[in-house]
Amino acid sequence: MVIEQVQPRIYKIPSILGPRRFAQWLVVGDERLLLVDSGIDGTIAEHVAPALRELDRSPSDITDVVVSHADVDHYGGNGELRRLGSQARIRSSAEDRPLIESWAVIARERYGWYREHGLDYDDATWQWLEQAAGTDTPLDGTVADGETLELGGITVEVIALPGHSPGHLGVVHHESRTAIVMDAVLERGLYTTSDELISPPPYGSVASYRGTIARLRSLRPARLGTSHYAPVEGDAAVGDFLDASAAFVDDLDAAVTAELDAEPRPLEYFWRTADAAVGPFSEMAVELARSVGAHLDEAVEQGRAVTSTGADGRRVWASA
Ligand SMILES: [Zn+2]
Repeated sequence: MVIEQVQPRIYKIPSILGPRRFAQWLVVGDERLLLVDSGIDGTIAEHVAPALRELDRSPSDITDVVVSHADVDHYGGNGELRRLGSQARIRSSAEDRPLIESWAVIARERYGWYREHGLDYDDATWQWLEQAAGTDTPLDGTVADGETLELGGITVEVIALPGHSPGHLGVVHHESRTAIVMDAVLERGLYTTSDELISPPPYGSVASYRGTIARLRSLRPARLGTSHYAPVEGDAAVGDFLDASAAFVDDLDAAVTAELDAEPRPLEYFWRTADAAVGPFSEMAVELARSVGAHLDEAVEQGRAVTSTGADGRRVWASA
């Protein structure tokens, strides 16, 4: 299936990315065509263009792109859109913009974050990430919480859903109660197409991620539009998905807190014990360390833990 109508004027463009489900979302107005996320380098030609053809449209008809967040599988098609001559106004949040515009910045701040803790992706993953990111492409501006996009016959609102990234955005169509949330909530992690849990849900701020789950609950959407999950359709399924996302945060907090000891320990220690408790994860397992780090930060803020620099120069945490 190259395109799937989910609601009138709202479409999902489904594909497969490695072992996982993958999707971009499209909102079709009479005057404007909004694409939510551009995928990886190659997604536009391989999936978005064929999907638009089904609607008798082409990538040159896209007027607006909202990039949900700074991860290569959500913006890597930006350069491709430009190569195809697209005039679309491509925007993201102000927070995520510098990472989306520069491979050097995202490689240092997002994907290289683990290095100061002695953790890293393997070489093959680094190669894949750089290729997927496509060419550095300047955005046309930023978009913030509360901005409405009047597309002609349909109006959607951009909402801030931080946590997975500092500036993660979603797009909501209130009339149909459709919340296109991409990676803003990540259940208990990412699954293969045969529903095997393989990768952890990374988030950089526990408070922001919990706040996003709460905000989505209060919006009471009838469906979630995600990047990597099977359809989350109906109030019960949305409730279950948000409950599972919240339960994971509670479980990871318990796992991290249980390992706080008088003896200071590095992130790698907390990551390995957490992986055993809430995983184990077979792919991109290192990304759990980002969430573990966020829980340790929160424990320090709340006075449950103290942090210092260990003998090898790496950060360590102990019980307060
Ligand atoms: Zn992501």
